[in-house]
Amino acid sequence: MEAVSDVIEVSYTGDLLAHRRCPRAWAYEKHAGFIPYEQVQAMEGRLLHHAMEWMSRRYRDDETLPTREQLLEQLERFYRVLRSRGISTAFTTREDTLERILGNLFRGKKLRSPVAAAILGAEHTEYELRSVRKVLKADFAGKSRILLTGIIDLVLQQQNPLTYRQVWKWDDIDALLGRIHAGREAAAAGDREIWDIKGSRIETPYLIDYVRQVITYAALFRERTGTLPSRCVLFFVNEKRDEDALLSIPLDDALVDSGLRWTVEQVADLQRTRRSFERDPAAVAGGTVLRRGQPVGKRVDEVLRAQCTGCAQRFDCEEYTTHLGSTPQHVKRDVSLYVVGKN
Ligand code: SF4
Repeated sequence: MEAVSDVIEVSYTGDLLAHRRCPRAWAYEKHAGFIPYEQVQAMEGRLLHHAMEWMSRRYRDDETLPTREQLLEQLERFYRVLRSRGISTAFTTREDTLERILGNLFRGKKLRSPVAAAILGAEHTEYELRSVRKVLKADFAGKSRILLTGIIDLVLQQQNPLTYRQVWKWDDIDALLGRIHAGREAAAAGDREIWDIKGSRIETPYLIDYVRQVITYAALFRERTGTLPSRCVLFFVNEKRDEDALLSIPLDDALVDSGLRWTVEQVADLQRTRRSFERDPAAVAGGTVLRRGQPVGKRVDEVLRAQCTGCAQRFDCEEYTTHLGSTPQHVKRDVSLYVVGKN
């Protein structure tokens, strides 16, 4: 049996996607253990996923969907749990945060139809199937195996299956590049789908990473069950119109193999950051991997910027301070050590 130290454990969202967004922030937070004092996105993401899990569990137990008031009550409880774990945000009030989440899940007093479809069709599979714990081969950093972890949400289409108005089309399967295509894909009752719910808008620059993530999950699902799911679905709850919020991603074997290869390459990239950080923390530059190669100050996109404003490492981050420019007003607001109210 190989030693435990031979394995690198990588969480798909906590490590791999976080590293894609900013290797420097990832290295300080996940590798060196500097926990940021503001976790805006983490807070909303956790509340959203808790809401979906709670509603699915409730439906499984007594086949009822919650009212808006019942969900609000549950989210208020969970908000307090998160606060007690040190997850908070001073940028927005509790009421605003919860109202935004409820507004994304309900239309007036009714659950949005994709939310209801996800809850009614949630497959309450064994933990072993939901939980991705995939060992992949590696040949870097003296390690021979990667333990990839994540959660797969399976949805079984019911008697009134959804129709998707946005379908992903691949331009290059080897490079895993593609785009959204306006189309019409009707699910059939009994179709089994992998869903991932995102708290962002669909035009996020990280859409391509989310697509690659779910097709990798499809590869892992295939390994467990011997078959591919009917499709993957990304649900962007921040999109107001249902037809804009759902993206269907067709699958085939070659595609999911390519997704798995891409994932292994990302773990190798993450390991390079880890080694570089251990040699010299200052050597790891801030900014998204998607803009690697662009000049300093140009590697922060609008999504990363929301993270930068609460990042504990922003004060001496060359990328972010350059991005803000040298106007005293900007410098004062975000990267001045003397603006204590913000921190
Ligand atoms: S300030 Fe922004 S770019 Fe710099 S390390 Fe933090 S998240 Fe990354």
